[in-house]
Amino acid sequence: MNAEIIAVGSELLLGQIVNTNAQFISRQLADVGVNVYFHTAVGDNPNRLKSAIEIAEKRADLIIFTGGLGPTKDDLTKETIARHLNTDLQMDDDAFTSIEKYFNRTGRPMTENNKKQALILNGSEVLPNEHGMAPGMIYKKDERLYMLLPGPPKEMEPMFLKFAYPSLRSKLGSSEVIASRVLRFFGIGEAMLETEIEDLIDGQSNPTIAPLAGDGEVTLRITAKHADLQVAQQLIDETEEKIRKRVGEFIYGYDDSSLMEELIKLLKEKELTIAAAESLTGGMFQQEFTSIPGAGSRLKGGIVCYTNEVKANILQVKEETIQTCGVVSSECALEMAENAAKLMNADVGISFTGVAGPDELEGHPVGTVYIGLYQKGKKTKVEKLNLGGSRAANRIRSIKYGCYFLLSYIQES
Ligand code: ATP
Ligand code: MG
Repeated sequence: MNAEIIAVGSELLLGQIVNTNAQFISRQLADVGVNVYFHTAVGDNPNRLKSAIEIAEKRADLIIFTGGLGPTKDDLTKETIARHLNTDLQMDDDAFTSIEKYFNRTGRPMTENNKKQALILNGSEVLPNEHGMAPGMIYKKDERLYMLLPGPPKEMEPMFLKFAYPSLRSKLGSSEVIASRVLRFFGIGEAMLETEIEDLIDGQSNPTIAPLAGDGEVTLRITAKHADLQVAQQLIDETEEKIRKRVGEFIYGYDDSSLMEELIKLLKEKELTIAAAESLTGGMFQQEFTSIPGAGSRLKGGIVCYTNEVKANILQVKEETIQTCGVVSSECALEMAENAAKLMNADVGISFTGVAGPDELEGHPVGTVYIGLYQKGKKTKVEKLNLGGSRAANRIRSIKYGCYFLLSYIQES
């Protein structure tokens, strides 16, 4: 089956939003073996949408639309498709009831144009919207499938996974199950990783191995197909084992987990509390730490010590250290981590000091970062980074490296 995704919305063409819907759907379709050959983006204009549909019909047997299912005048996807396919729109009772319920729940009056969201292409299969009002639908004509999905990703993604995907799979008549697992790497570059396992990537067709890089991290997705889910899982296990033999030291987690989540898991397991002293990261470590539900109880507190004055007066870094070594130094990072933990009565301390950029500091180039690691009863350790990226990238990477270093530091006996 060959698919085309048509994203409807003038915002996309004005550069105001990125077409993440196409990305999400493409990824899902790749997993079921549907080829996506074209991504189209078109504005909220019926004539141009119609011509996009005509073009897509020449080259795809599954056309997926996102956006333009809402209540306002510029939402015209359904109407345009209905006219093009010579079919009419019909009120769907379930969708209407669910919209009514939404308005009752929020206590807001339902305006007339909201009713239009319950209209569906006559004869289509309805995809319920559990996170919004406009339902999606799948309409079949002349062996071609038209799938209509809402624009907001928080509505579209769960609708796709829960309703559209299973329906598509049953239509494809596939008896194979697809299982996948993502291995997450840190501390190894994409090119190096690919070189290490190139023969595995090239030599395998089931499972397949696909690398993806971003934000200093690399992931590998292992995907296996088989009629029996257990066998598919076993194929994945075997491939993971082969990969681990070569680059296992860089694997820190699976699927959607993050370095921060792994760190928090470890702190919980070992019943350790933590405190932070942050200079160049300005509180980002604590921000990310506390954004994870239930993590708060592990964090005692932290100090954003951006100036020398705060490093000395509040965090009690020795004046002498600041004078002789500077604040961008191993010595300063060490005292920051130790003092943060001791001042806040925490088991573990982490510190970040360095040059985020764009300007140099104390003669150190942009991207020089020292990360201090302290744990009660252990020798304090400092790791140095030479990142050299943009200010934003240096700050984000410092946090990731901090988590990564701390993970192995705590695990060392
Ligand atoms: P609504 O009921 O919210 O109007 P809709 O189905 O009519 O939903 P649109 O009006 O086209 O969808 O888009 C609503 C919002 O969804 C956009 O403002 C944008 O934030 C998001 N959105 C739309 N299309 C995309 C896309 N292709 N990728 C990512 N986000 C999108
Ligand atoms: Mg809309």
